Amino acid sequence: MDKFTRPTLTLPNGANKLLLHSCCAPCSGEVMEALSASGIDYTIFFYNPNIHPQREYEIRKNENIRFAEQHNVPFVDADYDSDNWFSRAKGMEQEPERGIRCTMCFDMRFERTALYAAEHGFSIISSSLGISRWKNMQQINDCGKRAASHYDGLTYWDYNWRKQGGSARMVEISKREQFYQQEYCGCIYSLRDTNKHRRSQGREIIRIGVKYYTADK
Ligand code: SF4
Repeated sequence: MDKFTRPTLTLPNGANKLLLHSCCAPCSGEVMEALSASGIDYTIFFYNPNIHPQREYEIRKNENIRFAEQHNVPFVDADYDSDNWFSRAKGMEQEPERGIRCTMCFDMRFERTALYAAEHGFSIISSSLGISRWKNMQQINDCGKRAASHYDGLTYWDYNWRKQGGSARMVEISKREQFYQQEYCGCIYSLRDTNKHRRSQGREIIRIGVKYYTADK
């Protein structure tokens, strides 16, 4: 990581500021450092009503606030309208990760991000969601573009945050900052399925609020 020289990023369409949807501190850490290193003016938009239980949501959000404050980056704390998320997820409770429930979940988060962008003078949105190799980047990009397409002059920036070692730096930054280490994607169904998998392997189930990155793991 020490030898890596960050490329200078520029926003699409000559835009001068970005609204960055963030799902959590570990995923957005590398994205934020890349943007800051390029001198890009950006605001974090934290809208993740999928995260359950609320205690997990608060921990993830507060970790992200802590890192945004360190970088002097504005942070928009959007609603935790989890009832709305649950009603949109109805009938999709048994869907696997990366399936249609996740499309709904990304759509919902991007729809709110796009609305905020349109109402607050941002012409570019992006997200930290795609940096995780556990996620389907095409699925995320499709949702981001769909949300942006509802507003004239709004563009979803599909920059690949994983490339040139982005995923590895995400882990390095998480260790350096000793971020809270979430152990499931976020919703109650991903918690259920991760615990089911762990039980099948004789492993301990997830304990909320316990695991943090350390310098060596
Ligand atoms: S698994 Fe993750 S992306 Fe899919 S619905 Fe649950 S929280 Fe959303």
